[in-house]
Amino acid sequence: MSLLERVAIGTVLTALALLVILGREAAMIAVLVGGGILLLTWYAVRRPLASLTAAARAIADGNAPIYPESRIAEIDGLVQALRQMARRLAERLGELDRARAGSAAIIDAMDEGVIATDARGRVTTVNRAARDLLEYAEHETLPELRTLFRVKAAREAVDEVLGGSDIDDRELVLDDRIIALHARPLAGGGAVVVLHDLTEVRRLEAVRRDFIANVSHELKTPLTSISGYAETLLAGDLDEGTRQRFLGTIISNSRRMQQLTDDLLDLSRIESGRWVPRPARIALTDAAGEAWRLFADAAEGRKVKFSIDVAAGAEHLTADPDALRQILTNLFDNAMRYVPDGGRITVTGRPAGAMVEIAVTDDGVGIPAEHLPRIFERFYRVDPSRSREAGGTGLGLSIVRHMVESHGGEVGAESTPRIGTTIRFTLPGSDADLQ
Ligand code: ADP
Repeated sequence: MSLLERVAIGTVLTALALLVILGREAAMIAVLVGGGILLLTWYAVRRPLASLTAAARAIADGNAPIYPESRIAEIDGLVQALRQMARRLAERLGELDRARAGSAAIIDAMDEGVIATDARGRVTTVNRAARDLLEYAEHETLPELRTLFRVKAAREAVDEVLGGSDIDDRELVLDDRIIALHARPLAGGGAVVVLHDLTEVRRLEAVRRDFIANVSHELKTPLTSISGYAETLLAGDLDEGTRQRFLGTIISNSRRMQQLTDDLLDLSRIESGRWVPRPARIALTDAAGEAWRLFADAAEGRKVKFSIDVAAGAEHLTADPDALRQILTNLFDNAMRYVPDGGRITVTGRPAGAMVEIAVTDDGVGIPAEHLPRIFERFYRVDPSRSREAGGTGLGLSIVRHMVESHGGEVGAESTPRIGTTIRFTLPGSDADLQ
């Protein structure tokens, strides 16, 4: 029953009562006055009540409410209560929004890919890492979870989790990536899938395995030789010439092991980040001449010619002097190993933007094209037995690459078999900061 109906019924009942008590005329006057007062009261209450209803609806719809001004204490009390309720609601919603934005930011910043779905498998949440892994652009819509993966093993895992089973650490190969998949069914239906990219971890594990195998192999050969010759020497009864020969072999093998451990220590120092270059201004011609001194006698004996040719603008560079000496020594060492007697080794320098490009060229045996991209890898050798015989460790160019890169430079190689080889590298020029 509306307020108006209540007022009308009240008025009629009052009129009847007054008619019985006061008589007809007095009752008429009382009814008219009373009815007028009731009608005025009704008009005063009806508008603010309607506004109050509209304000409550606006709050429910999330819009800004307009509150009535009634000057009626009861209605004003109601308005105050509504205002307070709207304020609390806004605060709560704000808190919820902030919490939701915080969770979304955390999920998006995760290294693991996260995908959440509803009960039908439709994707409701997907973070940046999952998009990257599955190669979906930022605003691209993902298909349903069941059709998201092209790989059968992944689709089976999805069926299992949407069927209510947990999945832990299932390793999958998606294209060229190795992924660990974890998934949990959600209480209200749907699932959360977490993808962990293991590609780099597996690659590093393989690198470590190869490295250990290589080091063991490199150490085993000279060690076997040393212990074999030492045992024969111990057994005695050898003529002096043979004894001297055996001792010579033992010494050269221990030197090889020494060289290998020195190179390994250098490499681990650079790779661990414990070594940082201490740049100084260096005159290229002087540095190359000094590094060559180690080889000058051997070169003279083999009639190997050496020259330095530095272009204008490349006279000076900014690099760690010890590192530059080691880079040049490793490159000269290789060049000397592979040039024939009477060959030629040249150092050239030329400016390359803010850097100086230095090249060591020889006219030696050269490197076949298929090996060229790999010669800067640890232990990579074109001809392993020749390199070992010549005292190489397979680590020289790897050390060069690391040292150059830690100066912000780059290495490269060009070679033609039987014509010769050029190893190039860049280092900061004379204008670089001395830090
Ligand atoms: P190594 O100690 O065996 O010289 P490096 O890392 O210095 O190891 O070089 C890797 C391989 O690259 C060598 O084994 C060799 O096969 C090839 N190489 C490097 N420099 C030259 C060069 N100047 N001429 C021909 N081959 C080279």
